[in-house]
Amino acid sequence: MRLRYQYRVYPTPGQREALAKAFGCARVVFNDGLRAREDARAAGLPYLSDGDLSKLVITEAKKTPGRVWLGEVSAVVLQQALADLNTAYRNFFASVAGKRKGRRVAPPRFRSRKDSRQAVRFTRNARFQITASRKLRLPKIGDVGVRWSRDLPSEPSSVTVIRDAAGRYFASFMVETADTPLIETRNEVGIDLGLTHFAVLSDGRKVTNPRALRRAERRLRRAQQAISRREKGSANRVKAKARLAKLHARVADTRRDHAHKLSTLLVRDNQAVYVEDMNVTGLGRTRLAKSVHDAGWSQFTAMLEYKAARYGRTFARVGRFEPTSQTCSVCGNKDGPKPLSVREWTCLACGTTHDRDVNAARNVLAAGRADRVNACGGTVRPAA
Ligand SMILES: [Zn+2]
Repeated sequence: MRLRYQYRVYPTPGQREALAKAFGCARVVFNDGLRAREDARAAGLPYLSDGDLSKLVITEAKKTPGRVWLGEVSAVVLQQALADLNTAYRNFFASVAGKRKGRRVAPPRFRSRKDSRQAVRFTRNARFQITASRKLRLPKIGDVGVRWSRDLPSEPSSVTVIRDAAGRYFASFMVETADTPLIETRNEVGIDLGLTHFAVLSDGRKVTNPRALRRAERRLRRAQQAISRREKGSANRVKAKARLAKLHARVADTRRDHAHKLSTLLVRDNQAVYVEDMNVTGLGRTRLAKSVHDAGWSQFTAMLEYKAARYGRTFARVGRFEPTSQTCSVCGNKDGPKPLSVREWTCLACGTTHDRDVNAARNVLAAGRADRVNACGGTVRPAA
């Protein structure tokens, strides 16, 4: 399995300057490539092949006075920027042709110096390496200090150097890891992802968002309000914006941390993990958008999915057609829709009193189990 391992890195002022140049050159090559293809299309000419495009916007461009400075950065960085453009085009074409699952992919867009995330990628043939003194050696950048928060499991095949909106630098290594199945267990869990609690488990446990995250989010809201009070173009507004970017980064870090811990725990303790497919992209367009994105569900389920694969566990999304909050998890009676304010209800058929979310999680577990038995060739009667 290919995984990313990310670490904070600390370039010196000189290295930061060299990185800024690399970010800039990669962006120019990407944009030149995009423009060349758009111009060709507008002129009714055929789609430029990857090879022809590389010759045009890298090899030939370097010989022109306007682009001679492209020679100052690693050629691999430029090739990788074009590779990103080619992937973006392929995804777009596949999406248009209906060969790609998930939401529609937009055509590639121009990159800007103002994008909050700047990145360049070095592959093996760029000969990046980890030195004896545990620094990251990057061609035409230098030996960059790394905070190794955990060990790399194997030799990385590429490294992406990122600068985020808060001005922090990261190295994200692509590594191949061996799958390491854990000892089998009989436990299975259904998870209901919600707004009142981050997650409710079929065994009755409720997981709230960590206090650190709630506190960071409150600070974030205040920082957002502070910006609107500052005069446009003023030094104070610039300062407030920098503070907001830092807080955004902190909220994202805390959320990722929490999602990592919880997903590891759930995958370790259960043979199968089932989650209700919330269709987060769909919800994202409604007024729930903010809370949906804040809860970071898609990030969490993605973690569950790859960790399950890695540790030999089952992970499955349960279809949204299952009315998990309306069906009694004890007798299967469908009790009809209930407004979100109803937190507890008693089944008219069997008399069981349910916590709305725990009942939903139990239904997710039952539906996940049924799908799994079906997939294994067993016979399952649909719930009454
Ligand atoms: Zn019932």
